[in-house]
Amino acid sequence: MPGPATSIANVPLHDVLPRHYVAAEDDLRRLAHKLDTHHSAANRTAWHWYPEHADCPPVSSERNYLLLVDTTITLINTGDDWLELTLDIAWRPKLTVNAAVEVACWCPQNHNMHQVREAHWQVAGRHDLADAFTASTAMLTDVLNSGPFDPCAWRVWAGLPHAPAARQ
Ligand SMILES: [Zn+2]
Repeated sequence: MPGPATSIANVPLHDVLPRHYVAAEDDLRRLAHKLDTHHSAANRTAWHWYPEHADCPPVSSERNYLLLVDTTITLINTGDDWLELTLDIAWRPKLTVNAAVEVACWCPQNHNMHQVREAHWQVAGRHDLADAFTASTAMLTDVLNSGPFDPCAWRVWAGLPHAPAARQ
């Protein structure tokens, strides 16, 4: 798992993307660069990549989330509580672009992390991939533009339990 890198410029997308999707590289770099350099995200992004997964869609149903490349934008992290934006391209088992807003979870049945907003785009071909990456980065940019930047606000919005007062 190479990484983390704070910029898409350091991610060797050519080695990471499946052969038939490599032509989308320039579009992906342009979109990811806009995300990396957003004033609310700058120096908060962490990219990882997995070249060993590029051309091996999983045949086993047990491995149904095989990452090719992912980034996490950490907006808040107090150790106990956090707010992160995530974006990845993965085999699920079809090639899929996934984006989410994640907060620390205080549900009675603790999930550790809870996705309060998520979206997935299954893609077939480089144009699909570029379109899905456009939609996913737009979803995250919307959050970077307007927040909220407080995990509690997201939990209220999602109807989730609050963090215990003593730990806030
Ligand atoms: Zn939860």
